[in-house]
Amino acid sequence: MKFDVAYCISLDDKLSIYDVRDLNFDETVDFDSAKEHFQCPNDICRMMFEASNELGTFNAKNVNYIRTPHFKNLTTTRHMEGCPYGASKTGGNIDGLQAENDREEHFPSELLLTRREYVRKPTLSTTSKNTPDENRPIAPIQAFRPHPERRDTPDTTSIFAHPVECFVSNIDDKDLLKRMPLKIGEHTASYASFFKKIEYLQDNKGLIYWGKIKQIKDYTQSFRIDFEQKVWFKAEGEARKKPYSVNVYLSKKLIDNYRKHKAFLEEIKLAIDNQRELYCFFYGVTPAFKHVPSKKNPEASFGVFSADIENLDHFIIREAAGVEAK
Ligand SMILES: [Zn+2]
Repeated sequence: MKFDVAYCISLDDKLSIYDVRDLNFDETVDFDSAKEHFQCPNDICRMMFEASNELGTFNAKNVNYIRTPHFKNLTTTRHMEGCPYGASKTGGNIDGLQAENDREEHFPSELLLTRREYVRKPTLSTTSKNTPDENRPIAPIQAFRPHPERRDTPDTTSIFAHPVECFVSNIDDKDLLKRMPLKIGEHTASYASFFKKIEYLQDNKGLIYWGKIKQIKDYTQSFRIDFEQKVWFKAEGEARKKPYSVNVYLSKKLIDNYRKHKAFLEEIKLAIDNQRELYCFFYGVTPAFKHVPSKKNPEASFGVFSADIENLDHFIIREAAGVEAK
């Protein structure tokens, strides 16, 4: 069984696996999921067992992943009777379990554009790390108090990778993607409508645009990502529509100052060397038509749809198995 959330002892809070990934790569915080302790997200169940009754993680630290990240029960994990996280699916065939693991089933209904803040709890973390004593009394109840001031609920996320994983891993279930709502800022649409293929970017502004990467160019000041698909557009003075290339620029200064700088550079370097098909997803900017002077012939110019990425938190390059055929 896989879970999308778990209780993290040192942060005294429930985290999604995407929060955990974000924290693992964040160089401004001291967090390593391999050293953290995660427990059942069900408050009542968790309090019935000692702190050593833990959950495991899957794909918490891979920069690139194909199979959906999640929390999982370890062979030693115990749950109280009736806890929904304790139910193991037995009798299913391997293929069924494999399919379950390859999908993100928890769809956040809102992507929060402000990052979530985490506050580490000072006392309990050291105790639990240094005394793996089975007989140790469980932590007092007040240590597990909920955070009433918290804005996000289990239905929201501030990690862009989460809705992207929902979309990619369920790409073969169009009805589901049409049913599930997603809100970003003031705009609400189904997952199916919010994720817009890059070649149709003229349909609407402010969506999540995505497409297959044709090539990534490494320049002195920036990286340029060219998309495979082109946008058909009737430019001023032209008689009819013509196909134009689409690209986005990533400033190296923006990357240098990014809190997940190392992981991001690894992601982009892997992408440049990679021979596999990669896709780029971004939110926050809409590529616009512009004329760019030609390098070969400075007198001439050509048209292109282009944008500068402004926030790397809302930008992802990844593999997306199954997308190609859709
Ligand atoms: Zn439980």
